[in-house]
Amino acid sequence: MSALINAYNRLAITLERGEGARVWDTDGTEYLDALGGIAVTALGHSHPAVTAAITEQAAKLIHTSNVYQVKAQADLGEKLCSVAGMDKVFFSNSGAEANEAMIKIARLHARKREIDSPAIVVMEGSFHGRTMATLSATGSRKVQAGFEPLVQGFVRVPFNDVDSLKAVAENNPHVVAVMFEPIQGEGGIVLPDDDYIDAVRAVCDEHNWLMMLDEIQSGMGRTGKWFAYQHSASTPDVMSVAKALGNGVPIGACLASGDAAELIQPGNHGSTFGGNPLSCRVGGAVIDAIENDKLLARAQTLGARLLDGFKAELADVSAVTDIRGRGMMLGIQFDRDCPELVGKAMQAGILINVTRGDTIRLLPPYVMSDAQADTLVGQLSAVVKDALAT
Ligand code: PLP
Repeated sequence: MSALINAYNRLAITLERGEGARVWDTDGTEYLDALGGIAVTALGHSHPAVTAAITEQAAKLIHTSNVYQVKAQADLGEKLCSVAGMDKVFFSNSGAEANEAMIKIARLHARKREIDSPAIVVMEGSFHGRTMATLSATGSRKVQAGFEPLVQGFVRVPFNDVDSLKAVAENNPHVVAVMFEPIQGEGGIVLPDDDYIDAVRAVCDEHNWLMMLDEIQSGMGRTGKWFAYQHSASTPDVMSVAKALGNGVPIGACLASGDAAELIQPGNHGSTFGGNPLSCRVGGAVIDAIENDKLLARAQTLGARLLDGFKAELADVSAVTDIRGRGMMLGIQFDRDCPELVGKAMQAGILINVTRGDTIRLLPPYVMSDAQADTLVGQLSAVVKDALAT
């Protein structure tokens, strides 16, 4: 019997070692990793710059606490704000915690506006994490079930529906912010219309709401820009980042700009581990590697190669209802639930994930070679055809 709390439905394999986009299990079987630890290992496994940052920093100083100045934190803060186009940052250890900071900033914004029972607009189909506040913000009953009473203060609208947002603005004077993923990840790689972010920005400006973006899955170069919002003409007031920022070393960040960046003051937020020298040194190495290896451009071209490849290979499979994505964030949707594809793809040497029941989600590392991308398209398409062609 396992000593682990039964929180996960795990696949039977144990991965032992990885290199770039490839991993090996304890039997020596090789897999192509198209899930990247769920959007985490963007630089691939065993990236030399990440390994060097970890080993050098671990030999020097891992942790001090935020009682003191932390140089690696200040350095990463500057770098991250620069690529994100934001003013200031608070570091945490995970995505959910970065979102907690974001939600707390919205509550402080409400106090400043003298709104006593504030509300944040959130979206149907969203995913923001598993803490009590973030699961309450999440637009999935499955995630919330069993944990009632939920945290109050969230108002839900359909994603990509500006009219619903405007209706809330007219009817609810308690709203202080809108929180959403620029591309929904867990929700099935759902891209809004091209002008959606700008339209939300306009509503936020009109009503003195904070625009708060959850870029935990879509950020750090995933879509071919540093952050997915950078495909629009707008900037957020607050933004959360995690996953690929540490390439596997736990780190999250909540960034803010303008007045929103001044709301947290000593005493109203904090973290023991958040922003420690080890995780921040690695975060800095990740940003440098994305820049040095020109991985934003690579994510764009590689993503387009994968998208075009799947569209060509699966054109005749009637069970496929949509193939979509941006950069290295891709979804293949079916007309039925298909969780069995995860195991079948694994048998064929490809690691994937199926989200919302009916959509294959691919979040491969940006360092995948063209040949590996073509193998992914060929092998996975064969699995899909074998399982679902009617
Ligand atoms: N927000 C988004 C968009 C996510 O995809 C996730 C994780 O999948 C989270 C938040 C939660 O991040 P974490 O699991 O690091 O707490």
